[in-house]
Amino acid sequence: MHSPSLLKIDNLESFYGPIMAIRGVSLQVQEGQIVTVLGANGAGKTTLLKTISGVMDPEKGTVHFNGKAIEGSAPDAVVRDGIVHVPEGREIFPILTVEENLRMGAYTRSDHAEIEKDLELVYQYFPILKERRQQEAGTLSGGQQQMLAIGRGLMARPKIMLLDEPSLGLSPLLVKEIFAIISRLNREQNVTMILVEQNAKVALDVAHYGYVMELGRIVMSGDAKKLAQSKDIQEFYLGAH
Ligand code: ATP
Repeated sequence: MHSPSLLKIDNLESFYGPIMAIRGVSLQVQEGQIVTVLGANGAGKTTLLKTISGVMDPEKGTVHFNGKAIEGSAPDAVVRDGIVHVPEGREIFPILTVEENLRMGAYTRSDHAEIEKDLELVYQYFPILKERRQQEAGTLSGGQQQMLAIGRGLMARPKIMLLDEPSLGLSPLLVKEIFAIISRLNREQNVTMILVEQNAKVALDVAHYGYVMELGRIVMSGDAKKLAQSKDIQEFYLGAH
């Protein structure tokens, strides 16, 4: 890696009470990349994202974003810095309309004209959300709710998005559609991404680089294409025998 990293994590440790969920994680994300974090249930992927986005404070270690130490910062300060977390399970506001949900994503901003432009941009990427903009978000399908969660994240105009299992509970066709949009957002809007996934196949298809977590630690990392060819990954994460 030659250019300085947009995000650099060193020796991070995070706990739930006495349970150590992240056990000394170090990783780097280059600007413009999609970096996937793979691993089984309970490996610590969600905890890693929560610690980056300020939802949890680490016990030890550092998180540098654009060269600035941000570990332990409040979640809204992290959003203002340009990091947006799209949580597992989407966490949209079901009784608000689609458009109200999207506007909530811009809560840290006051540049009203730009917010309107970004709303149109989200509608370009997700035309179904424009069609349904006056509908209560709780009435959307699972795939549409995932689109809304990503759209709401975009409304903060992030430099980096933390996507937690966007494929969860979706049909293969919808997963394909959503991952194609994630890839376009990365290329066309220069949004850097950390993509947490259990679905290694789709994640390695769109990612540039990948890390594998087990029991709170990084156990493997490398170029996404190389990881997809590794025997261990094929056996444990891609279902090959
Ligand atoms: P998943 O795909 O299920 O979200 P994950 O890789 O994201 O898995 P985490 O949710 O980060 O894993 O969990 C890491 C470890 O921390 C697990 O051992 C889990 O049981 C534990 N853990 C997660 N959330 C809590 C919590 N709120 N309280 C106590 N322990 C937790």
